[in-house]
Amino acid sequence: MTMSDLPTTTHLSSVQLQSLRQDLQEQQEQRRRQLHDLREQEQDGSGADGTWQELVVSLTAAERAVAELSQAFDRLAAGTYGRCTHCRAAIPFERLKVRPLARTCIDCQRRREAA
Ligand SMILES: [Zn+2]
Repeated sequence: MTMSDLPTTTHLSSVQLQSLRQDLQEQQEQRRRQLHDLREQEQDGSGADGTWQELVVSLTAAERAVAELSQAFDRLAAGTYGRCTHCRAAIPFERLKVRPLARTCIDCQRRREAA
């Protein structure tokens, strides 16, 4: 599947997209700051084993979040943001507003969780 096979029309209005983009930007800024702090802590190498493990877990989560956010920006640029990556159904704005990183519609999400 190539990028050109994906539907590029979006069901979201420009105002809605703008609002979601802003949410994503705020999240990205927050996550990048968090990642920066965590990396500094990592370099300090201080703390007991317990905190070290927590640090690694937090770092992994923050790295994943930053990667997911940058993918969301790619989808925004490509015009595929807000479409289920599974069945290509339009994901309602209300769902995206709660979960701007949602990549699947509720039906596919449920099916995946049930599997
Ligand atoms: Zn779907």
